Amino acid sequence: MSSKTPPAPADAALRRAAKPTVVYPASTMPRPDMAVLESARHTMVKIHEVVVPPRNARAFRVSRGQFFRIVSIEGPQVGDLNLWNADDLSERFFSGKTRALHATHVGAGDRLWSTMPYLRPIVTISHDTLSWYGWDSDGAGIHDVIGTRCDPYTNLLSSGTGYDFCCHSNLSRALAAELKVEPCAVEHHIHDVLNVFMCTGFTKDTHQYFMKASPVRPGDFIEFFAEINLLGALSACPGGDCSATHSSDVAACYPLKIEIFEPDRTTLGTWTWPLPSEYHRRHGTPA
Ligand SMILES: [Zn+2]
Repeated sequence: MSSKTPPAPADAALRRAAKPTVVYPASTMPRPDMAVLESARHTMVKIHEVVVPPRNARAFRVSRGQFFRIVSIEGPQVGDLNLWNADDLSERFFSGKTRALHATHVGAGDRLWSTMPYLRPIVTISHDTLSWYGWDSDGAGIHDVIGTRCDPYTNLLSSGTGYDFCCHSNLSRALAAELKVEPCAVEHHIHDVLNVFMCTGFTKDTHQYFMKASPVRPGDFIEFFAEINLLGALSACPGGDCSATHSSDVAACYPLKIEIFEPDRTTLGTWTWPLPSEYHRRHGTPA
């Protein structure tokens, strides 16, 4: 605190004692029918896989109704995930709203939401082998929607050095390769990520974003059900397990695997596919 901090008012304790209210209680949101997904996932067959090399990224496509997994295969490794509507890149994963609707970290039963004006679930998390982790004594959890992604711009700002294999650059290269253009032509499509397998929280004293070694081990996976046709990109972060550093070639890094599965579609018969928001978009102007 600065020495210029003004004195607290006489009723400071009373003001601080106001009770917190959860902004978006789970009971107010439409809930996915996890029993349907559970029956579907028991019928699914792997149809494709993509290996993401360390300090690199790969794009992948998943059709509505398919499942996909991000799998740890050789050692503890964090992944930075971007998702777009495969038919319209302007609809993409909205990390901030997902955080507001669910929590700082997401897990099975939570959904990843898309940007406005669409604002709909684009995936539902159908399984997570790290769900046992919960919240640790530092207040950290797994799979955060807090961090944005490591990037060369912040790196240059903070260290004064250039580094080309941050997740932002990796994702830009992967999307550019998929769309057959140069990275600089598509980097504006890269957005705040789901930090897959990353273990993070806020320090209790200063509330700063911190990371600690990911508890992920080979064989662990997080699994998603695609609610729309998706184009995805996954970066194997240069921070490796993100125990100490990122944005450099120092950390031990491992590949990640993306596996795509097709279920027996008859098991999804009662699924309600999410439509774009029905808000009229007049924003207060006359109809
Ligand atoms: Zn990264």
